[in-house]
Amino acid sequence: MEDSWRREFIKGLIGAFSLPFFSIKEAFASKGSVLIKLPPLPLQETHIVGKEKGGRVLIVGGIHGNEPGAYKAADILRHVKVKRGELFIAPRMNFVSILANQRGYNGDMNRKFSNLSPKDPDYDKVVWLKNFIEEVKPDIVLTLHDGFGFHSLNPRFWGQCIVIDGEVYKGIELGKIARYVSKNVNKEISNRKWKIPVYNTRTFDKDTKHPEQRKSLTYYCLKNLNIPAICLETSKQMPNLETKVVFHLKMLKEFFDLYNVTIEPDFRYLISNVQKLLYPQNFYSATVCVNGRIIEISSSRKLKVPPRSTVQVIRFNGTDGTNGIFNGVNKNYREFSIRRKLSIDVKDDFKKKFNISIVVG
Ligand SMILES: [Zn+2]
Repeated sequence: MEDSWRREFIKGLIGAFSLPFFSIKEAFASKGSVLIKLPPLPLQETHIVGKEKGGRVLIVGGIHGNEPGAYKAADILRHVKVKRGELFIAPRMNFVSILANQRGYNGDMNRKFSNLSPKDPDYDKVVWLKNFIEEVKPDIVLTLHDGFGFHSLNPRFWGQCIVIDGEVYKGIELGKIARYVSKNVNKEISNRKWKIPVYNTRTFDKDTKHPEQRKSLTYYCLKNLNIPAICLETSKQMPNLETKVVFHLKMLKEFFDLYNVTIEPDFRYLISNVQKLLYPQNFYSATVCVNGRIIEISSSRKLKVPPRSTVQVIRFNGTDGTNGIFNGVNKNYREFSIRRKLSIDVKDDFKKKFNISIVVG
C-alpha cells in the first residue's frame, strides 16, 4: 500500500557500542581478525492521522519476542489509512527478542518499567517507549500479547483475556472500557475457551496476587502518566498465527469504535484478508560491503574473506520485520570481530530466510 498518507519514522537505535559488556578495542586487539558489522536494529514508530477529528490510540507490539500474534497485528495496522482519529504504533518494541523468538532475550521487558539500570541491554528501548507515550499523550495505550492457555478455562492463565490493573484508577474506568470490548467481541465467539473475559489483576491493591505487575508498562502509564492502559491477550495455544492476529484485530476493532477511530480498509476487510496480509510475496536479500565492494546476497551462502577484512551489512531488504542477528554469539551485538568463522541469520521476524556464513581464509 502507498506511503503518502502515513508519516513514519524509523529510528536507529542501540549501536552495540553503547553496550557495556562489549569492548570494540578488545575485538580489534587480535591481529588479522575480520570485523563484521550489522546495521542497528530500528525502533519502529508509525503515526497515522485522519482528516476527521477522533480519538488518539497508541498500540504497542512485541514487548515479548515470542508472541507473533501481537506484533504482527500491530504491524498490519501500520499500513492502513485513518479516516477519523489518530493512530500511533510501535510494533516491534523488542526486536532482538523477536528475531531470537524468545520472550525476553535480555529478560522480561514487561518487568522493566519501574526501575532499570542504564546498563540493561533493554534500557534505551524502555526509555524510548516511556518518552514516546509521554510526548504523544494518547487517549489510551493498548499493549498486545499472546499469553499462555485460556483464561476462561483457568483464571490463572493469561491467554484470551483483556487485562486491567484495577476497576477504576483516578477516575479512569478501566473496568467499564474492558467490559464493553469483552462483551462485543464475545458475541461472535461460540467456542467457550476462545472467549475473552476481563482479568483484573488489582495491581494497585495491597493484597494483589500480582505485585510483579507494578513493573509493567500498563501500570507505568496509569501511575506515572495518568494515561489509560490496557493489555490485550490472545492465546499462544490458538491453532495458528492467523487466528491469533484475528483475535487481536477483533479486540482492537471494539477499542477503535469506543475511541472514535475509523480506518480504511476497515477491520472486516483486514480480518478476512489476514492470510494475505501476513504472508506477502517478498524478496529477501542483504546488501553487504566486503572491503569496499558491494554484493547482494539473497540465499544461504559462504563468504570467504582474507584476514583483516571488514564485512559490513549495509541493509537487509524484505519486510519491516526483516533483519539479521549473529548466530552463536550474544545476539545484542551489532559488531563482532572473528578469527575463523561466524554466521548471520537473516530473518523475517521469527522466520529464518537464509544465512550468511563468513569464513576467514
Ligand atoms: Zn506477553
